[in-house]
Amino acid sequence: MLTIQPVAAFTDNYIWLLHDPDSREAYVVDPGDAAPVEERLQELGLTLTGILITHHHFDHVGGLNALKQAHECTVYGPDNSAISGIDHIVRAGDSVTVLGREFDILEVPGHTLDHIAYFSASSSDSSVADHPLLFCGDTLFAGGCGRVFEGTFPMMLASLESLAQLPGNTEVYCAHEYTLANLAFAQAVEPDNEALATRVSDAKQTRQQNQPTVPSTIELEQATNPFLRARSEQLREALRRQGRLEQETAEGVFATVRGWKDNF
Ligand code: ZN
Ligand code: FE
Repeated sequence: MLTIQPVAAFTDNYIWLLHDPDSREAYVVDPGDAAPVEERLQELGLTLTGILITHHHFDHVGGLNALKQAHECTVYGPDNSAISGIDHIVRAGDSVTVLGREFDILEVPGHTLDHIAYFSASSSDSSVADHPLLFCGDTLFAGGCGRVFEGTFPMMLASLESLAQLPGNTEVYCAHEYTLANLAFAQAVEPDNEALATRVSDAKQTRQQNQPTVPSTIELEQATNPFLRARSEQLREALRRQGRLEQETAEGVFATVRGWKDNF
């Protein structure tokens, strides 16, 4: 059975560490920094055998080569020559077996053009009751989404909506602890969203206890994340009341909300 834990890096990054308690093998997702990963591997007595990369930003790949030099590990990542150290370039339709569990590659451009995500529908061990898993880097955040640096708003919306199609009980592992700030913005957009109000008080409590608010679930994101709600009548009505509904299309609503967040 796969165990997943966050390794905190920089000010608000999470490097996700996956390990199999039986084999003592580990994988990490988006190691922006090698030092905290090395520390955790030692602490737990684990051997690093693989690395998954979602996109080329430094806070996701900065520790890649140091880890590769120190360990015999295989690196999977997107097709981008700007990232050095990738052994296997993966694309939509490909899959990667991580510690016995299969992950499908999803292409989710927008934040960057090379951005991919890793999705596992279920464990191969059918005796284990576990959830689908998603590692989505800086595309879908708890309560928010990444800034659109390289792609376009319609491209980012399509990527987010492809993630929103995943099963509701999918655990969503994003790469930053931005949740409280994201939810504060979400409440500015939808002050009357009750599921959102509940989420805000839950997240505040979690952070007060110094615990990560990640993972969330697709179901919770659909109910509370404004960037997955561009087709929601409730969200449109909230924008309308605030005189902010400029365009009725999902692309227009998304552009309005993303543009507002960029200046929030
Ligand atoms: Zn990024
Ligand atoms: Fe990042």
